[in-house]
Amino acid sequence: MYYNDKTTIFLDGKWVKAESASTSLFSQTLHYGAGVFEGVRSYETEDGAMIFKAKEHFERLHYSAEKMHINLAYSTEELIVLSYELLERNDLQNAYIRPLVYLGENMALQPTNEVHVLLCAWSWDRYLGDKQLKLMTSSFERPNPKSCFVEAKVTGHYTNSILATTEAKQNGFDEALLLDMNGHVAEGPGANFFYEKNDVLYTAPLGNILAGITRQTVFELADELGITVVEKYFTPTEVYAADGAFFTGTATEVVGIESLDGNSFQLQWEDTLGATLSKAYLNRVQKKEYKNFELV
Ligand code: PMP
Repeated sequence: MYYNDKTTIFLDGKWVKAESASTSLFSQTLHYGAGVFEGVRSYETEDGAMIFKAKEHFERLHYSAEKMHINLAYSTEELIVLSYELLERNDLQNAYIRPLVYLGENMALQPTNEVHVLLCAWSWDRYLGDKQLKLMTSSFERPNPKSCFVEAKVTGHYTNSILATTEAKQNGFDEALLLDMNGHVAEGPGANFFYEKNDVLYTAPLGNILAGITRQTVFELADELGITVVEKYFTPTEVYAADGAFFTGTATEVVGIESLDGNSFQLQWEDTLGATLSKAYLNRVQKKEYKNFELV
């Protein structure tokens, strides 16, 4: 699914076949989760494949690397150019691009000088599908911001996400919704959360969540469409009474939510602000109108 015998990846300065690439079993990232990564999408547009908000994604990768004491030797500009080459070499247009910065052999709990950079890509449908999701409030909290850099996209943080999604699925739900350490709604395992009440959108403020690039895009689209978005702390009980809700994420895009803990929202998805924004999002990512599409 992720690669076949023709797939080419970028690994440490070279273009190599995915199936013949290898790495050390003593990588610090493999043992302790101290790597950083991104999830980026490219879209087929009238001007060819365009990577949506490439600059923002690679700047976040740099931020994550810096927080984890990882020396990422490629500039944002270089990573963008390499990503376009990756798409071209694999003949991909609508694709998910996965940059991963992982570390060399080091079993000590200290920074590692050996740094590996992987860029790979594959075709990926919407991560959570197209249908409206049934969510469950997770028994797992998002990591306390005093335990890590929550705004860094660190591989090890995703053990929390895997536990939450697995718990939700085992209980018959589609996905989890995680709270922060104070009992406020934070985000999904791999997406930011918004709910709608009386024509206003609400979402958690930064601090206990990943600063989603799609979340930011939704702010921009909402502004253009005259929709008010309020960042505030709220509880699952407030969400139970919502008119609608949705998740945002690069892999997920903008996907509707049907219910939380069995409490269905008031409006049909088609009648929500989320549905309007979901359409506006697809329109935005497939058009070159957006300045961040420009190659640097
Ligand atoms: N929160 C978490 C925990 C995520 O993993 C993601 C996906 N990167 C998001 C939110 C959404 O972020 P973005 O819109 O930048 O993809």
